[in-house]
Amino acid sequence: MADSKKQGRVYLVGAGPGRADLITVRGAEVLKLADCIICDKLVNPALLNYARRDAEIIHVPKRIGEGSFTQGKINSLLVEKAGEGKVVVRLKGGDPCMFGRGAEEAAVLSEAGIDFEIVPGITAGIAAAEYSGIMLTDRDYSSQVIFITGREADGKQESNIDWHLLAKFRGTIVFYMGMSNLDFIAGELIKNGMAANTPTAVISDATMPTQKVIKATLSDIDKKCKKADIEPPAIIVIGKAADSNQQLNWFMELPLFGKNIVITRDSCANEIFAEKIIAEGGNPIRFATIRIKPLTESKQFLESLAKIAGYDWIIFTSENGVSIFFDCLKTLKKDARIFGSAKIAAIGSETAGRLGEFGIRADFVPTIFTGKELGKQLVGFTNLQGKKILLLRSDIASKELAELLTRAKANVDDVAVYKTETEKGESEGLKKKLADGQIDWLTFASPSAVRGFLEQVPAALVNSSNAKIASIGPVTSEELKRNGLKIDAEACEHTIDGLLAAIKGTGK
Ligand code: SAH
Repeated sequence: MADSKKQGRVYLVGAGPGRADLITVRGAEVLKLADCIICDKLVNPALLNYARRDAEIIHVPKRIGEGSFTQGKINSLLVEKAGEGKVVVRLKGGDPCMFGRGAEEAAVLSEAGIDFEIVPGITAGIAAAEYSGIMLTDRDYSSQVIFITGREADGKQESNIDWHLLAKFRGTIVFYMGMSNLDFIAGELIKNGMAANTPTAVISDATMPTQKVIKATLSDIDKKCKKADIEPPAIIVIGKAADSNQQLNWFMELPLFGKNIVITRDSCANEIFAEKIIAEGGNPIRFATIRIKPLTESKQFLESLAKIAGYDWIIFTSENGVSIFFDCLKTLKKDARIFGSAKIAAIGSETAGRLGEFGIRADFVPTIFTGKELGKQLVGFTNLQGKKILLLRSDIASKELAELLTRAKANVDDVAVYKTETEKGESEGLKKKLADGQIDWLTFASPSAVRGFLEQVPAALVNSSNAKIASIGPVTSEELKRNGLKIDAEACEHTIDGLLAAIKGTGK
């Protein structure tokens, strides 16, 4: 809590160039501490996931019109909030001081006697180049780099840019904020003696799935960018470095680069999935179809918990089941010792992994991650006759597993730890994207997600679109087929990683 008698502290933090995980470790650390976050327009909103729930978030767009902030207003806000004794993070795109007026903010804070720290960030010029395979320096042809702004301070009478020197520069020139002046910049350089055929590249939306790269000669670049509707933010690279080897463009060559992939799990699981898609260059479109509701206050659950150490086997069939179970233990001020000598089985690697986070190593995981295989393989693994088994699952889990175990003469208690409810998302936007052919993949990781999705988006629309469908495994595929949908890819390993591999066509 902020203390009004205490002096606050301001962190001027570089958020990185776009992609959320390109913030520095220090940047993420101070975001978690902040009482107040003052956020620029170009900052990825996903970074606010680091913020404390009670943190005050102030967006300070500097466009013209209502709700806009002048630099003066931002400076006063920093002084005001720190003056209230708060920990303030001033979150700025790229690096905070690289053409970012961080210097001005630091000066204001210093003058006001407020402690501050500068947390550097990855600047757009460097990230844009490296995410498009352009090497700004090279032992052979570029020993020097210039970073330069294509738009100088408003109202400045004389240009600081020495065009005649720049035109003779034997290295790489990187322009920020130059898109609205691109023809002027190219014109001035050529007028001052730079070759009209100097290689030039423009990279927009760098590090994002929407990244675009245009390459041309200096004299043609503006025309080509206009034709391709390139919009800011964009970086302009001029010099031999811009004529890079296409094979080094590792980011745009990723198999999922630029693909719009709809993810339909619950919002928490969607975040984990989204991170994996982003790491592959794809664009996750979050459309939560289900909500997970714990049932750990039910009589049936509490009764099974009271006698849990008396079971021979306890079986978890989802990550959600594990998390909710341990949340409940925490609330009851208990821990994993409650299992006593009971053995633990998990349906697959993800569920086993989640158990591992709570210090439990699963005694049994089948080689194929379905309820049916878990039942079949556990029966083969050990004699279950007369054994007491507790299944901790969702209320609508398939009955197959319990039946297989009962057939092996085990005494099975099938207890629901949670239920899934349909989540209503903003379906109009998604329906329009489907109709416009803008969705590449629809992904499904459970039958309940299929049902939740189809309650909001008609199967006919999906079938008439060019979106492909990916399923995590046979049970989910069955539900898709039952609803008249075709499956383009089914995961071999029934995990989120397997689902991603299926989409990429690498079949994990
Ligand atoms: N402090 C920032 C720069 C702020 S000036 C940094 O260090 O990156 C804003 C300019 O940065 C934009 O006009 C554009 O030239 C560049 N820029 C920011 N984000 C970008 C992105 N994702 N892709 C390309 N250029 C970007």
